[in-house]
Amino acid sequence: MMNLIIFGPPGAGKGTQAEFISASFGVAHISTGDMLREAVKNETETGLLAKSYMDAGKLVPDEVVIEIIRQKIENLGGAGFLLDGFPRTAEQARALDGMLESRREAIDAVLSLEVDEEEIVKRLLLRAETEGRADDNEAVIRERMNVYRRQTLPLAEYYGNRGVFRAIDGTGTIDEVRGRIHSEVSPPEKA
Ligand code: AMP
Repeated sequence: MMNLIIFGPPGAGKGTQAEFISASFGVAHISTGDMLREAVKNETETGLLAKSYMDAGKLVPDEVVIEIIRQKIENLGGAGFLLDGFPRTAEQARALDGMLESRREAIDAVLSLEVDEEEIVKRLLLRAETEGRADDNEAVIRERMNVYRRQTLPLAEYYGNRGVFRAIDGTGTIDEVRGRIHSEVSPPEKA
């Protein structure tokens, strides 16, 4: 059983690679961005609260996101997971540690997809055309990058200090990046 985090700036390819990893490692793919977009679409209480933050490229308040993850992890039973887009702040990382401690588990690896900012902006503008996400316009993209640098990037050190942080070149084709991930962590042996 493995618990993984896929880490990196918006547009680094986390969602795409997360699909592959969750399939080959047999772990649940948990994306807070996807869950929040679903909540916005369904106009739930959480969705109504989250929408204005998401549209502006800001982070949804910690307590809201932490509660979503807490419920999701409780419902997993004993299965391993891959977190995509969480944690994004020190407070979220500490809350996650608390949840894992009570399960007597830990994070096995943080897979960090590294892509430089200009490449990211290019990719996100392209995604705006194909997926039509409300938060993929240039001003909001730049804001999301700022938020990432200020609030999320410091977590690289947090996990680096524990020896679980793995930097992976996120440029090139989807298959190239996938290959690099697999040379950093191997799926569990099939029984
Ligand atoms: P993503 O799809 O991961 O880029 O997330 C889209 C948006 O959802 C972000 O820009 C935030 O507004 C919000 N969001 C997703 N995950 C989190 C999180 N862990 N903490 C706070 N806000 C989040």
